[in-house]
Amino acid sequence: MHAVPGLACPGCRGDLRADGETTLTCDGCATVYPILDGIPSFVPAAAGGRPSRYGLTVLIPAVNQGDLDDLLPALHRELRSLEISYEILQPSGPGYGTALRTGFDQALGEYILTLDADGSHDPSVLRAIWAARQGVAVVIASRYVPGGRVEMPRARTALSRTLSFILRRGLSLPYSDLSSGYRLYRREALEAVALHATGFDILQEVLIRMVAAGYEIREVPLQYRARGTSRAWLARFAVSHLQTFLTMWKLRNSIASSDYDARAYVSVVPLQRYWQRRRYQVITTMAAGAHRVLDVGCGSSRIVGSTRMVGLDIVLAKLRYARRYGNPLVHGSIFELPFKDCAFDCVICSEVIEHVPADERVFSELERVLEPGGRLILGTPDYDRWRWRALEWLYGRLAPGGYADEHITHYSRANLAAYLKARGFTIDRVDYVGGSEMIFGVRKSTGVPAARPLPVAAGLRSR
Ligand SMILES: [Zn+2]
Repeated sequence: MHAVPGLACPGCRGDLRADGETTLTCDGCATVYPILDGIPSFVPAAAGGRPSRYGLTVLIPAVNQGDLDDLLPALHRELRSLEISYEILQPSGPGYGTALRTGFDQALGEYILTLDADGSHDPSVLRAIWAARQGVAVVIASRYVPGGRVEMPRARTALSRTLSFILRRGLSLPYSDLSSGYRLYRREALEAVALHATGFDILQEVLIRMVAAGYEIREVPLQYRARGTSRAWLARFAVSHLQTFLTMWKLRNSIASSDYDARAYVSVVPLQRYWQRRRYQVITTMAAGAHRVLDVGCGSSRIVGSTRMVGLDIVLAKLRYARRYGNPLVHGSIFELPFKDCAFDCVICSEVIEHVPADERVFSELERVLEPGGRLILGTPDYDRWRWRALEWLYGRLAPGGYADEHITHYSRANLAAYLKARGFTIDRVDYVGGSEMIFGVRKSTGVPAARPLPVAAGLRSR
């Protein structure tokens, strides 16, 4: 875990002490907070999964059952050489996905290895797969990374490669082999995602959901030996993949995906790309020169990687993704920021306040953690602008269930400016993105705060 400057117990503001890598304890009230995937968490967690009884569970789905007698002796030899405890399960089901999910539900290993028994998955690759597991949720034995090889008739190789290419590009998944079933999963990560596919499409679904949950994936080369399957089998394999492409595409492009904001920055949709880049430019310009910066609701946006700062979000998946920017991250709520008073000289809060109810605590918390004279950069759509309302209407039609439906509080420049002034903030500037998203650059007062600020809901547009 990164040391997080300014961190404090959200309950009593007491100092927090790290007990190893897994928990923080408050010196004031003795509350214990978990550290999840290296991120201190102040959001009450969902119930945990089953405890592990083995180091590894090997799943051999009974769908592609070849000659187990050939596989098992070599597999046991490799597993023994890894010196871990293991179990071998052969789950069955009407389809590959169903069989795999049955196995996932039964497995008691800390890790789960999946492979086929038809001779195509060489057990000697196991050592390389196992060695690659640190820090990732999935290791794929890949036919298409350097060092990997495919031995099968040219027509089949071409089809398989084309399929992988279409899936990779169409689903924006930067991995070479999305349909290799020879993989190692961290079970805890598997339990954090819900799987529904019944066929071979589970191979893509699990990757998409892992990426959506902010987990990382690694590939190691596999020298793949042709399996003795017919053209008809391969055709079914291809159709099964392509039929579900649209479902997978929707899943991949949902705002629930941990990398949604990061991908918008490089989106092929010009308006979306413009929007992200303009917002990035406005906010980083306003924040320039600050030394202790907090981004509240950082998501996966590149802003949290633009300079040294602390990122906070309520969605753990987005934080897992944002770890790649190398800044300290905190899993917490805007209503109860886990930081000391006056801990920052700049607080960024972009595209957050429209997602939560109009509540004084949001603003009193942002103000509290800011030092006197410190900068608050506050971005939200301006619902007085017809252009925003038109865009949101259109967006709501194009992407039902997207951000449009999540905007529950509709601020306008007039009511937000009046409110911030009444709280004692000085408004330095207001910049716009697309002439409709307003970004306030304001400074906290250095004097005594106003005794009776305006109610936050004063002058709010009704929905
Ligand atoms: Zn405390």
